[in-house]
Amino acid sequence: MRRLPIVLLVALLAHPGASIAQEITAPAADPRIQKIVASISEERLSALVQKLAGFGTRHTLSDTDSPTRGIGAARQWIFDEMTRSSPRLQVSFDTHKLARQGRITRNVDIRNIVALLPGKSLRRVYVTAHYDSVNIGEEGQISANTRAPSNTPRPDPQLRRDQDYNADAPGANDNGSGTALTMELARVFAESGVEFDATLAFVLWAGEEQGLIGARAHAMELFKDKVPVEGDFNSDIVGNSRGGDRTTDAESVRVYSEGPEDSMSRSLARYIARAAAVYVPSHKVRLMARQDRFSRGSDHTAFTQYGFPAVAFRESKEDFSRQHAATDTVDGVDVRYLAQNVRVNAAAVASLALAPPAPVVTNPRGQMMIGRQPSGYDANLRWNASPGASAYRLYWREAWTSDWQHTQLVGNVTEFVLPKLSIDNYVFGVAAVGAGGHESLVSAYVPPPRRDPVIKLR
Ligand SMILES: [Zn+2]
Repeated sequence: MRRLPIVLLVALLAHPGASIAQEITAPAADPRIQKIVASISEERLSALVQKLAGFGTRHTLSDTDSPTRGIGAARQWIFDEMTRSSPRLQVSFDTHKLARQGRITRNVDIRNIVALLPGKSLRRVYVTAHYDSVNIGEEGQISANTRAPSNTPRPDPQLRRDQDYNADAPGANDNGSGTALTMELARVFAESGVEFDATLAFVLWAGEEQGLIGARAHAMELFKDKVPVEGDFNSDIVGNSRGGDRTTDAESVRVYSEGPEDSMSRSLARYIARAAAVYVPSHKVRLMARQDRFSRGSDHTAFTQYGFPAVAFRESKEDFSRQHAATDTVDGVDVRYLAQNVRVNAAAVASLALAPPAPVVTNPRGQMMIGRQPSGYDANLRWNASPGASAYRLYWREAWTSDWQHTQLVGNVTEFVLPKLSIDNYVFGVAAVGAGGHESLVSAYVPPPRRDPVIKLR
């Protein structure tokens, strides 16, 4: 078994609780996941990106009558292509009738495309990307980045009255790359023949460029319907390895996740890095402890705002001169690099969908089930059983570190004591382990925010 250089036993021996701690090692590779990762096709990714860019524009407010140009033609083709990919995919339009608002300058129906791959359980793992594109004029995104700093806000180019919504906005990289990634994963997962525990939802959003509108409308319904969403793997601009600053990096991808430090979004980010190290060791996952890049956003935030864990994949090097402009063409997409990002997604999505759900570590009153029993100086951890779990794995780390340092596999129990380990000095978490060895996300025990009474002054 390959070892991750996360911790050495030597270091462990210096800590209390070390007598039972194990090294953190990479999980054993599952041949089914290796096969899924190996079946990602660069040729197909290339064909998908070319086809998407070929619609000329996929602007949310562009023409819907033409069979070859505009968002109407694009969404119908995505729907048909996913339907053709596999009879196991349940493909539908998720339509929202929008009133005029902000950058949506007239009433319009927007359509997300949803492809469900039913699993053994109803819990859902989302794989998403927006398929709409935009051309903001004035040389695209680079003009916003290079403009002299000013205290006077610039008018939003998407609120200009003279906009041409049918102007060229090929969006090969933003976000043909993420759209192709999502479509290819849908095909490969559906055709793998593997029965996943989680239901997989492969979704292409509309209205992202006008304010994450398609994703927000969808996430709002998930929240209302109490759908158990375990995570959203959102990809937006993931196909270019050559920066506009003339630097290149085809060996890494950035994964942004919103805090706090032990949010389930951060847990998902750590999980992705771990799975990638096992199945795609040639590609490095760079975890970013922030919601997104400065002043930029994407649909993962629609999910986190409704309390669902989510991350955003972003290419290693960006060329801002090709974003939100007519120059976002297929020659700016490095398909070999894009394929590596698809493989990282494939490995983590498959691992998570094969694992049981993460254990719940709070009681019905919302309190963390952690204490110092029995001696008063121990770490006493309790959790609710996860359906399908055959064991649990505890994790802990010094309270001023960002990733797990120590671990202990425990049996099929819902309580475990780590003797003489201070719950004040370490952060603890627990993951559920399925019969096939796949682990869930780690649920961390975090102190709730204090709600102290306001002091009364007279
Ligand atoms: Zn985008």
